Amino acid sequence: MEEAELSRNEKIRMLRTTGLSLRQLGEMFMISRTRADQLTRGIYKSPDNLETRNNKIKSLRESGKTLEVIGQEFGITRERVRQITIGVEVHKPKKVKIGKLPLSLKGRLEQYIIKTDGCWKWTGPKSGKGYGKLAFKGKDYYAHRAMWEVIEGPIPEGMEICHWCDNPECCRPNHIFMATHKENMQDREKKHRGNRKTIR
Ligand SMILES: [Zn+2]
Repeated sequence: MEEAELSRNEKIRMLRTTGLSLRQLGEMFMISRTRADQLTRGIYKSPDNLETRNNKIKSLRESGKTLEVIGQEFGITRERVRQITIGVEVHKPKKVKIGKLPLSLKGRLEQYIIKTDGCWKWTGPKSGKGYGKLAFKGKDYYAHRAMWEVIEGPIPEGMEICHWCDNPECCRPNHIFMATHKENMQDREKKHRGNRKTIR
């Protein structure tokens, strides 16, 4: 930091202690209130002198100083020194408001499901045959298949997700199972012979 800047900052701090407001200080020194507040609290970093600092670090590194020595000098880690010398910018992770988190497929499903002791009822749109339907990230899903994917992972090509409970809209994970088309047909036949499993 240049001497002129240092003495200016000292002056700002001094004036602040005499009771000048941040707004008055800002107007007097043509800086923002936030900046005035930072300066009175001894926070001198600004993008400009950060760049100067980084250039200094780079040239020290070029002159052969070790990462460790430079790090100690500037109060930063060796890794950060290394990043600066190769030009890696550190981006702070964006803060995401919880309420605005994008919903997962599971979250989307749960918006439409009413859980009961028996079947989990689908309250969203349905297909002609009564299966729950939903769109997620541009893809169309059957709700019970989406539930299977959420719980068990991707459904292999050609496999069907069937209902033990024979209730097409049901999305309860332990009411559904994966089967080949043939097995599905056999299961149906069995159920229609009155051998129906009662999991409701
Ligand atoms: Zn069920």
